[in-house]
Amino acid sequence: MCEYKNFIEDIIDNDLESGKVSTVCTRFPPEPNGYLHIGHAKSLCINFGLAQKYNGKCNLRFDDTNPSKEDQEYVESIKKDIEWLGFKWDKLLFASDYFDVMFDCAVKLINKGLAYVSDETADEIRERRGTLTEPGVESPYRNRTVEENLQLFYDMRDGKFPDGSKVLRAKIDMASANVNMRDPIIYRVLRATHHNTGDKWCVYPMYDFAHPIEDAYEGITHSVCTLEFEDHRPLYNWVVSNCDFPAPLPQQIEFARLNITNTIMSKRYLKKLVDEGKVTGWDDPRMPTLSGIRRRGYPAEALRDFCERIGVAKSNSEVESSYLEACVRDSLNRTANRVMAVFDPLKVTLVNYDGREELTVENNPNAETVTYRQVPFSKTLYIDRSDFALVPPPKYYRLKPDGYVRLKGAYIIRCDKAVLDDDGNVAELLCSIVPNSKSGQDESGIKVKGVIHWVDADSCVDVTVRKLQSLLTDAVDGVTDFNERFNTESMKVVSAKVEPSLLNARAEDRFQFMRVGYYVLDRDSDGSNLVFNEIVGLKDGYKPSK
Ligand code: ATP
Ligand code: MG
Repeated sequence: MCEYKNFIEDIIDNDLESGKVSTVCTRFPPEPNGYLHIGHAKSLCINFGLAQKYNGKCNLRFDDTNPSKEDQEYVESIKKDIEWLGFKWDKLLFASDYFDVMFDCAVKLINKGLAYVSDETADEIRERRGTLTEPGVESPYRNRTVEENLQLFYDMRDGKFPDGSKVLRAKIDMASANVNMRDPIIYRVLRATHHNTGDKWCVYPMYDFAHPIEDAYEGITHSVCTLEFEDHRPLYNWVVSNCDFPAPLPQQIEFARLNITNTIMSKRYLKKLVDEGKVTGWDDPRMPTLSGIRRRGYPAEALRDFCERIGVAKSNSEVESSYLEACVRDSLNRTANRVMAVFDPLKVTLVNYDGREELTVENNPNAETVTYRQVPFSKTLYIDRSDFALVPPPKYYRLKPDGYVRLKGAYIIRCDKAVLDDDGNVAELLCSIVPNSKSGQDESGIKVKGVIHWVDADSCVDVTVRKLQSLLTDAVDGVTDFNERFNTESMKVVSAKVEPSLLNARAEDRFQFMRVGYYVLDRDSDGSNLVFNEIVGLKDGYKPSK
């Protein structure tokens, strides 16, 4: 384990040393209103990572206190994605299971004279809240008696008031420099069917009240969230201390959310893409959701590695998407088997070879245990058109008239003749193999600088390949609106000829198509109709900024 510590680990170390905390307990609290995206992976890695590092616990808690936009489909997808990323939660919890606890906490605050029922409209509350430079104005309902407040709050719960007609507000300080402390709303009347509690409740707690209670009730010690909540921390602390939870009280710690260039990091907008049919679903391989990324072929290991490498920051910034790709490439370079695929086929006939053989070719030179596969070889092959030049530039090491090249894992060949069609385009190459030049047993004495990939024409398989790009184009002239940046060319479908070993592949198997890039078999494949998604090219586009 690396010795470098981030600022959250420093805080935890102090808490353990001072005896404030004995077991570290974190939580990942998604709202089940969409699929997880790569930003959530960062939060997952921090929360589960801390629990692992300190031998503590991390709960998965669905923050489902807002009844309107939540769905069971999202709950299931979130569980699946977390498991895929390689994490195991301690307890699986639903914040909506605590509605009674939250209600009791609200009653407790009323009894302490720390909360009151207000009849103000949302507009009135907003108008009286004041500004950053001016204090707010106290609500005309602020001084209701405890008895009156209790009765009204029970009546709110019992459905005696229409939606929006009354709210419960915390009684804190209308002159606070922090606007969040100016008597925030903590409960509202809302008739909405909840996916977990059905129609049991017609009052629902607000996030800023619910979240600290959830944390405290579960015994979370370190409640990690993103920077937007920094200004809410005083309210968080106010809630946990005034609701009389036992020590140690949870501590909210903020870090900078992950942003990646040209990557949509908002569930709301991702949902819009799905709803409008701009993508095929939440797991479209172009989507930055964890299920999309998985289908795209990014290994979970690469994502964890990426989150580790970028570290935990205290100020917002944007990470280059090419940095994530570099992590993916690192992982695949170690783990993906090499195969041969030709995208733009040029026929090669070996004039002096009539045999048919199975060559034994290494799967992955970087694997811990090297394995091999059989690749058929015969008289007619395809190479990629870009590996032949009729009029080669200087230092051209691939195939050219009268030139030599090695076919990967096979023989050295010589190009005897390029056959042209009526338009003067190269239609076919007539080549001869160099005797005794077979890979691994080469006694030909001929040195060649170029090695190219190929497939056997008789046995190769035609497959479909999706070439993928980001769903967003580069931001130009400060245009940040996702709608204007939608990349209409994010998926290009092409065909390729691949070696027949790929007929044995299964969905989610990843390969390096030699000299081209990394590809994953998509679940849309069936039988001999194979569909691959491009994962990432071979070349590293990442340049560390100076
Ligand atoms: P979105 O804005 O996409 O809807 P959210 O923050 O509302 O995201 P939640 O379901 O509330 O989504 O998020 C669960 C956890 O993931 C929260 O603790 C949140 O802070 C964290 N999280 C969400 N987006 C990011 C991000 N881009 N980087 C780091 N953490 C994130
Ligand atoms: Mg949220």
